[in-house]
Amino acid sequence: MIEELVNKEIDNNREEYIEFLRELIQTESYNPPGNEKNVALKIEKYLRNGGITCEIFPFGENRANLIATLNNNFSEKNLLYNGHMDVVPPGSEEKWKFPPLSATLKRNKIFGRGATDMKGGLAAMIISLKILKKLHLISSGNLILNAVADEETGGKLGTEWCLKKIFFQKGIKSNFIIIGEPSQIDPIPSKVIFIGEKGELELKVISNGTSSHSWNPFTGKNAIYMMTDFIQNLDKLDEFLPKIESFLSVEKLIALFSVILPNKEIFERIYNEQPILKNILYSLTQLTESVNIIKGGIKSNVVPDYCEAIIDFRLVPGQTTDMIINGLTKLIDELGYQVKQNSKTKSEDVFFNLEIVDQSESSIWENWERSMTLKTFLLFKSWHFRCLFL
Ligand SMILES: [Zn+2]
Repeated sequence: MIEELVNKEIDNNREEYIEFLRELIQTESYNPPGNEKNVALKIEKYLRNGGITCEIFPFGENRANLIATLNNNFSEKNLLYNGHMDVVPPGSEEKWKFPPLSATLKRNKIFGRGATDMKGGLAAMIISLKILKKLHLISSGNLILNAVADEETGGKLGTEWCLKKIFFQKGIKSNFIIIGEPSQIDPIPSKVIFIGEKGELELKVISNGTSSHSWNPFTGKNAIYMMTDFIQNLDKLDEFLPKIESFLSVEKLIALFSVILPNKEIFERIYNEQPILKNILYSLTQLTESVNIIKGGIKSNVVPDYCEAIIDFRLVPGQTTDMIINGLTKLIDELGYQVKQNSKTKSEDVFFNLEIVDQSESSIWENWERSMTLKTFLLFKSWHFRCLFL
């Protein structure tokens, strides 16, 4: 009955909802720098029209977080929606088939920056709030929408700020939380509950060599060659890390996937025909690293004495930043270099520096296996940092 009512409401207002999502995508909120306040104002206007009040918490240059609730009673059960308003920058716009802010509607799909991650999910939450209010479908408890800034750059000014400064201070607890992030688990059917998140370590690795004129490069120590040597051996890092008990093996994950499919053969067919799925399963269950930025050299005829690389490590539960740093120190030692934390004092100093740029711990729902029902299957989320344990 309730489902029918909701479905009818969606069918009757389909155009309005699609246009609202398009408007969110068209509202630029590239982070950096953020500009999430533009999106917050659109959400506020839309919800106010539906009789729902919102509070906007501005900060910095045109940035903001937003909280909206169905009512003012928080003493019964609360469900919290969490969705981020920022999106990653679009890169080179010429490479986009449809402009990133166009929100082009084609073949029943909407194309634009953030359509998937995660203005689509955010719009669904906002619209559901409006529908539940309009149809008076919640008689007890409360539904809270927390639209946040800063997710794409760590979440400290968004979700973390809202938790500390609003929810904790006002004593608002939620019984359940829904995060509208995309899962990237096509072609696997939905029915997925994420059981945790991998940790993240953004590390700046600096190689310090010695400079010389490149007519005779042998008198210098080329920092770019040092970095190349390091990167080429990075896949040996595992050998220098303590063995930790695996929380979830690829085999177990495959078994879980098989539970929700009619039979194991179907899964095996998908698994063998879609190499991308193998990569996803690997990334979900192992430490991964990716060298994403590299800088070095100042002139075409000068042997560089400095090179830096930013590496993005994603840690599984049980692994810590210290373990990775220790492992890298041993790896660098094995390559014949020293790791020093102090900066270069003499021009002939040759060493590596490891600087933590950002980090977040992994989290895991320890007893997830005991809580698992037959048709519910649980996964480990790999690419976003969020801290939502109220
Ligand atoms: Zn996201």
